[in-house]
Order: sequence, then structure tokens, then C-alpha cells
Amino acid sequence: MKKMAIVCSGGDSSGMNAALKRFVEYCIRKEIEPWFVHDGYEGLIDDRIEKADYASVAGIITRGGTKIGSARSKRFMEEHYRKQAIANLHARGIGSLVVLGGDGSFRGMHKLTQESDLAFCGIPATIDNDIAGTEYCLGVDTALNVIKDAVDAIRDTASSFGRAFVIETMGRECGYLALVSALTGGAEMCLIPEIPYDLNAYKRDFLREKAQGRRYFIAIVSEALKKSDEIAKWFEEEVGIESRVTVLGHIQRGGVTSVHDRLMAYRFVTHAVDALLEGKKSSVICYNDGGFEAKHINDVASKQYSIPEELLSLAREYGSQ
Ligand code: ADP
Repeated sequence: MKKMAIVCSGGDSSGMNAALKRFVEYCIRKEIEPWFVHDGYEGLIDDRIEKADYASVAGIITRGGTKIGSARSKRFMEEHYRKQAIANLHARGIGSLVVLGGDGSFRGMHKLTQESDLAFCGIPATIDNDIAGTEYCLGVDTALNVIKDAVDAIRDTASSFGRAFVIETMGRECGYLALVSALTGGAEMCLIPEIPYDLNAYKRDFLREKAQGRRYFIAIVSEALKKSDEIAKWFEEEVGIESRVTVLGHIQRGGVTSVHDRLMAYRFVTHAVDALLEGKKSSVICYNDGGFEAKHINDVASKQYSIPEELLSLAREYGSQ
């Protein structure tokens, strides 16, 4: 019987548990023996690999995070430890792996497959939505919904008290979460690294709106800019309104998995297992224009993600009335 393993690597995202459930169920349907690797590549090196079955995934579909743990692994960067990982997989007769993670995780696993007869298929899973070659990464929708709830709640207090709120979102170097949250949260300001901004233009607009009766402002600022405190100060000094900063932080990574992410987990995993069964050795399942495609790792990991131009053009309307 063929044996396939699944591992979560790098930052976790909501939807990983739904993916584990589909992995186990689809493997069994395809007469493949499903295995879990615990705690990312650390678990591969230390042989924390166990056989999975229906009971292993019962009741987990709603929960964010990952039941099998995730980790970053410095040791996996060294060939010596990757050899250890290969030996552990060989000892159990596991021939291929599904990897839920980001491009760093895929690059690392590509090395391992180049050094052995093993195959892997990556599933982009990060709330940052910053992986080249795919429009969507697992967990983004749930993160956006967590941010939406937070922004809606903050609006209640901002409007009552007449304050400016600077809300900092995650995303590492990518402004996707901030951009979509600003558009869908009705924010007055959106600052992301992809778009240059002009505080003078914002000031002109905000002073005019204030004179017309606006009592509060919501600003969504990407963590990449590292400017949240500065912007809050700017509101007080230049716009003349009391301000507060809310750094949303790690709540964005958790939360009950949205319908969209559960369905995407289901579809990503199905395509990943199929790609491995077709004999693809180092591929990543990418989602674009409503469809899935297994792309070679080099078409994903060596490139820089950019936010679709259409979304960027919507965000450029901020601060330029
Ligand atoms: P992400 O997968 O979210 O991009 P990281 O870049 O932190 O996250 O990578 C996750 C893990 O993948 C690292 O801790 C390391 O174990 C492994 N990895 C990343 N890059 C490499 C590499 N060039 N060689 C070997 N392993 C790597």
C-alpha cells in the first residue's frame, strides 16, 4: 500500500485542520495509507511521524491552528538533518508528502526531494497571502473575517467617543490583508507598502470632512510599514483628533475556519494528493481565476508575489479625493 504523509511548516493558518481531515479521508478513499508528521520539519528530523485514521481527524474541522503542530526548523537548513528526515521517511515506507506552508517551507522541502527519491506537493497556507503564482493562500479568508469583526467593533467605540483608530494588520511585507480590510471595513485610510501615500492629501480631506461633521476615522495600516504609532501621532497633531493604536497581532491567525477556507482546504488537498499520484515530484497547488494547477516549485518560490492590479487601483483612491 502507498503511504503518504502531511506536514504543517512555518506559520499556522486557519484551515489547516480542515486540510488534515480531507487528507486522511481522501487518502483512505484512494487506498493510500495517511501519515501525520508532528511539529513541522522538526518532527521529520526527530521521527515524530504517526499513522493517521478517521479518529485522528474527528471534530477538528471548525478549529483554527493545526492539530499536528507546526514549527520553524533551523536544523532542516542543514543537509545532515535532512538526511535524517529522509531516513525516517524511508524507514516507514513513506514515499511522498503534502506540505502546508509558505514558500520557505517549499524551498526547504524541494531540497529534500532533490536529495532523495521522495516527492512533495505544497499547499500555500499563510494568512499573509504573499506566495507568488497563486491568488489565494489557505487561511486568508478566515483572517480577513477576524479583522472585519475587530474593525466593526472598534468602529462602535470610535464613533461613540470621536476618536481616530489606527488598526495595524499582519501580512509581513505584503499589504493584502490591510488593503482588503480597508476596502471591506469602510476605513478612511489605508497604508500599505505597495502604494506610496501622501499624508498632506489625507490631511486636506480629513480636515474638510471634520469641518463637515465627521467624528471619527478608521485607518488600516500594514505592519510592514512599522508606522502605526507615527500615524496615530499624526492624527493628533495634524488632524486634531484624539487617537489610539490597536495592533491586532496573532488573533488574526486563529479563529473558527470560514466556509471559504474549509472548501479551499478540501479542494487544495484533493489536487495535491492527485498531483502526487500523477507522479509530480516538486509541485505547489496554485489557485488562479477559479481553477487549480500544480506548478513547479521554481515557478512559485523564486518569484515575488504582487497584489492584483485591479485591487491596487481601488486602494489608490485612498488619500486622493
Ligand atoms: P514559510 O514557509 O512560511 O515561508 P519559513 O521561511 O520560516 O516559513 O520556512 C519554514 C521552514 O522551512 C524553515 O524553518 C526551515 O525549516 C525550512 N526552510 C526554509 N527555507 C529553507 C532552505 N532554503 N533550505 C532548507 N530549509 C528551508
